[in-house]
Amino acid sequence: MAKVLIVGAGGVGQVVAHKCAQVPEVFEKIVLASRTEEKCRRIAAQIKRPIATAQIDADDVEQMTALLQREKPELVINVALPYQDLSIMDACLAAGVHYVDTANYEPPDEAKFEYKWQWAYQDRFRDKGLMALLGSGFDPGVTNVFTAWLHKHAFDTIDTLDIIDCNAGEHGQAFATNFNPEINIREVTARGRYWQNGGWQSTDPLSVHRMFDFPEGIGPKKIYLLYHEELESLVRHFPKLQRARFWMTFSDNYLTHLRVLENVGMTRIDPVPYEGREIVPIKFLKALLPDPASLGPLTKGRTCIGCLVQGSQNGKPKVAFLYNICDHEACYREVQSQAISYTTGVPAMIGAKMMLTGKWRGPGVFNMEQLDPDPFMEDLNRYGLPWTLTTLDAPMD
Ligand code: NDP
Repeated sequence: MAKVLIVGAGGVGQVVAHKCAQVPEVFEKIVLASRTEEKCRRIAAQIKRPIATAQIDADDVEQMTALLQREKPELVINVALPYQDLSIMDACLAAGVHYVDTANYEPPDEAKFEYKWQWAYQDRFRDKGLMALLGSGFDPGVTNVFTAWLHKHAFDTIDTLDIIDCNAGEHGQAFATNFNPEINIREVTARGRYWQNGGWQSTDPLSVHRMFDFPEGIGPKKIYLLYHEELESLVRHFPKLQRARFWMTFSDNYLTHLRVLENVGMTRIDPVPYEGREIVPIKFLKALLPDPASLGPLTKGRTCIGCLVQGSQNGKPKVAFLYNICDHEACYREVQSQAISYTTGVPAMIGAKMMLTGKWRGPGVFNMEQLDPDPFMEDLNRYGLPWTLTTLDAPMD
């Protein structure tokens, strides 16, 4: 039994707090800390078990270290923003605490995410006998575990990997993002990138698309090629992959709004002088858009996220799709959040549980696919994200 400290009281933090509270045999004590403590208190009030709360600016390594030294958790689950990853990792090193997150580091002034900054912590975590688990959300996270599981159990070789993320839900708002708007819009407006024959190929933002027929009645939807962080670690750990791509569905309405916002400069991340002070347009836009946590009671429909893999088994060609379907309203009934926060928060709890129960242990910095997928896959079924494996007739072109 252990004490865990969750950093970040947003949509994902709420789910992590609920899910950790559901597993008292592992998470004996829970502290929820965030920039605005009132949000932590609101979440704690939803949960029957006592949850301690704290105010923290996680950008401040000294403050973060002092909080860890005071609370003495075994592990930190970082579900603040990607900007805080390195300062929280530094504090974990200083205080001797294990670390889990769901998104890789991004410098605030550059729309760019790469693992290089966090992989550079490998020796420091290893030398202190501490473990850092990177990207324990759904994508990255479950998609990495799915790929490792397919490799272990369903294929002898995997040639191509297509990660496909569909939100077939409706929230009834003119324009809203399902997780932090700033991070979401930076990701979607970036150039597309995919791996092919040993190198990265680059595409104009949202210029490559396909139709994909989603299972279980969700049906055909348009999917767009994006760059996503798990591609970087997956091609490193599965070097035989000939091609690896990431796709996401967007409604025409979402894309029209995004295009207009981009054209007028509202998605810019650089400071703009305005009436004697500087404002960053995308931060101002975030303040205007609905808080993703507020979409919980409004969202209906389902998500489907999975890995479409082509390769061979026993000398025969094979194509398979391993996926989870998650229902927004069912998530809301359970933890008062929509499925995007749920599909991220549940794997964050499971990743922490894997480490605290010793199923995943090792000094250093790890991506999810480097660890045994089996206990994690069992827990997905157990804690609300059941998965299904189907074979398909043809791969995606
Ligand atoms: P939200 O914006 O809803 O929540 C972020 C929280 O972090 C807020 O409570 C915010 O505080 C807090 N925070 C921000 N800066 C600091 C700071 N300096 N110190 C302390 N707390 C801070 O985001 P989400 O919950 O939607 O997303 C959380 C994380 O999950 C993000 O990193 C996102 O990229 C990741 N994610 C990963 C996914 C995956 O599948 N792997 C999918 C979706 C999200 P305040 O309330 O005061 O602003």
